[in-house]
Amino acid sequence: MATKMRAGIVGAGIAGASCAGALAAAGWEVDIFEKARGAGGRLSSRRMEEGWASLGSPFISAKRDPFRSQLRDWVRMGWLEAVRGNIMKGRATVSWTQAQLQNHYRPLIEPSQLVRNLMGTARLHTESRVARLAPRTIQLEGGAVHGDYDCVICSVPTPQAIPLLEGLPRLQERLQHDTRYRPVWSFIMRWEGGPPADVIQFDDELLNLAVRQADGEGVWAVHSTHAFAETYLDVSKEEASTRGASALMGLLALPWPVEVEAAHLWKMALPTGQHDGFWLGDRENRVALIGDGIAGAGVERAWESGTRLAQALVQAEAELSH
Ligand SMILES: Cc1cc2nc3c(=O)[nH]c(=O)nc-3n(C[C@H](O)[C@H](O)[C@H](O)COP(=O)(O)OP(=O)(O)OC[C@H]3O[C@@H](n4cnc5c(N)ncnc54)[C@H](O)[C@@H]3O)c2cc1C
Repeated sequence: MATKMRAGIVGAGIAGASCAGALAAAGWEVDIFEKARGAGGRLSSRRMEEGWASLGSPFISAKRDPFRSQLRDWVRMGWLEAVRGNIMKGRATVSWTQAQLQNHYRPLIEPSQLVRNLMGTARLHTESRVARLAPRTIQLEGGAVHGDYDCVICSVPTPQAIPLLEGLPRLQERLQHDTRYRPVWSFIMRWEGGPPADVIQFDDELLNLAVRQADGEGVWAVHSTHAFAETYLDVSKEEASTRGASALMGLLALPWPVEVEAAHLWKMALPTGQHDGFWLGDRENRVALIGDGIAGAGVERAWESGTRLAQALVQAEAELSH
């Protein structure tokens, strides 16, 4: 019997998960190492008494076909629905097109579950922080070494990938000049009253967006601007929450105080700059990099970077075995 091809993947965000699932579906044996307690990465949520609310990306959108068809599958499964309702931009109610929210969906199950489901039969190792990559080998913090991989795949934001690549200087060098990420403070807030909207796009220096959450009365996911997060990069959650809540009360002229249920600083929320390719590879050492730092900002580009790399690996394997 032919031995199975093996891949080791660092990071269980949507890029790592889509790559893992596509390789596993092609018969590869796949390990995913994730430093957090579960999958999802920046598609994460916070549990509350009434259910859950988005802490990372509140929307999933598709501009192109392969991901559109993935989203249609998720809609059929009841895991996603098209964004509907009233949208406000500044103080005006606007259409979907004006708000550029066509083809936007919101998860009906926890977004981390969407990501988990993508992995198929791949093995997820949680609370496993990777310290170093080498050809065919992944070394965890604490020293454990997992090896003998036909391909090692790094699917973490670029600034977090650079220190892992000490032993792979050519790949590390190609990353040094690249991508910068910008931060966002993300809050889960609860308030009474306010405008009859489901999505609010602020025209403001401090706050960017508020999205009403399905679970919980009056619960909203609120995102700061990059400028707010860059100014308050080093403050406590309490201070950021107070500043975010008072900005929101002013913008919406709310009569009652806003409750902040959770606050999270995404130091690397979104990468800047244009990206043409989907993945970066070091063929000789069998190491490849994927994720939005390589492919460009957003859930769709991240998903596509994982599936495109998997397709290329499966095709290369098929060519070798003929
Ligand atoms: C607040 C916010 C709002 C957003 N809004 C939108 C939006 O409206 N639309 C949109 O398309 N996109 C949006 N995004 C961006 C989108 O979420 C990301 O582009 C996408 O999820 C990136 O996926 P990824 O797999 O590349 O990276 P990630 O999701 O960051 O996954 C990387 C994973 O690697 C893990 N990791 C890192 N280092 C290590 C290590 N050393 N060892 C093991 N594991 C490690 C991390 O824990 C993480 O799980 C938003 C992001 C944020 C934060």
